[in-house]
Amino acid sequence: MHFKLENSINEQVILSENPGVELYVKREDKIHPFVSGNKYRKLKYNLLEARSLGHDTLLTFGGAYSNHIAAVAYAGKLFNFKTIGVIRGDELKGKVDDNETLRFARSNGMQFEFVSRAIYRTKADAGFLTGLNEFFGNFYLVPEGGTNDLAVKGCEEILTETDAGFDYICSAVGTGGTISGLINCSKPGQQVLGFPALKGDFLKEDISKFVSKTNWDLITDYHFGGYAKINEALITFINKFKTEHNIPLDPVYTGKMMFGIFDLIEKGFFKKGTKILAIHTGGLQGIEGMNAVLKKKHLPIIE
Ligand SMILES: *Cc1c(COP(=O)(O)O)cnc(C)c1O
Repeated sequence: MHFKLENSINEQVILSENPGVELYVKREDKIHPFVSGNKYRKLKYNLLEARSLGHDTLLTFGGAYSNHIAAVAYAGKLFNFKTIGVIRGDELKGKVDDNETLRFARSNGMQFEFVSRAIYRTKADAGFLTGLNEFFGNFYLVPEGGTNDLAVKGCEEILTETDAGFDYICSAVGTGGTISGLINCSKPGQQVLGFPALKGDFLKEDISKFVSKTNWDLITDYHFGGYAKINEALITFINKFKTEHNIPLDPVYTGKMMFGIFDLIEKGFFKKGTKILAIHTGGLQGIEGMNAVLKKKHLPIIE
């Protein structure tokens, strides 16, 4: 079982104001066109485990714009697993054609089970999982957002020896799996900063389950009101960043992280001479879906 991967290279972002710090972006978004960024890292060892346990079906959870749902659907097709996506929001049933992510997942063979938000919240309960097993038979369960021990192990492969010279490693945070892997493979003297894309104090505790080092922190000022919430300032930033640096950012994760990094640089958070490596965790497949929402609201779109 092997993904054909492109190299993940570090590109320097030339900062116009010359703030005395250096910023590089690790282009994990470029490693695969559909299983991009951290979603590849998080799936790798889970798919190997599913195969070695003899499973032929993957079941996972996600929202309607989930990068994880798109990645699982595509990876499943590539490696001959049936895939089942338990999708948050029963109002989406019958509306798959209107949603870019779900349409992509279905075209790669994913079967959906739409559930209400109330039921979705119980997805970790034994009773709910037993019900899914009775209905769908045996499956390998990939948790929401793909985070488990094997996912963290995959994310420990994001940093390489050549990244040892960076003072700060920055990453967007959803469920915390990616930053956990980054913390585990960080070098002594490096600081890992996470930028949560959602509100909530549970993240620190979740991350602590996967890591033993203490060289990390969460910067919680840049979630823009919550998961998948965005405003015009963020859209303007993402568009300007792409024009000036030729790097596309997604609105849910990497856009917020980079907005935060730029704001921190401006506020003098980083000492002169600091070298920062920001991980581009991908997520670009979600832009189209977000633009459809923005158009309906008569807001500017992501270019
Ligand atoms: C899923 C995702 C994240 C969050 O990763 P976690 O491991 O859940 O913290 C960050 N960036 C992008 C682009 C993602 O798709």
